[in-house]
Amino acid sequence: MSKDKEEKLILCEKCSGKIASNDDLVTSIVPFTIVPYHERCFSREMKSLYSVFISWPINGIQGNVGTVLIVLIVVVSLFINDVSWYYSALLTLPILIRLSSWVIYERHLE
Ligand SMILES: [Zn+2]
Repeated sequence: MSKDKEEKLILCEKCSGKIASNDDLVTSIVPFTIVPYHERCFSREMKSLYSVFISWPINGIQGNVGTVLIVLIVVVSLFINDVSWYYSALLTLPILIRLSSWVIYERHLE
């Protein structure tokens, strides 16, 4: 039988420590890559000069609400004839990033 959750070691980008739960996980985009942080490491990183290279958190309430809003905008834009298909396609990028964060990191944690 297969396990419900596949074991995967997720290490913080800043301190290299193990991230044990989704409550302590913050995923963010550092140019072209989705990286995991401890919550405290992420806030320290946001106060440093390196913060200019880091996006807002992908996961958590902010990420989920943003994703729901974008899904609604994409659905609405599909019914507006003046919106080109490539604008709608471009809008799906944040949805794909949110989904990637879940597939790569969040689904492996409690
Ligand atoms: Zn850390």
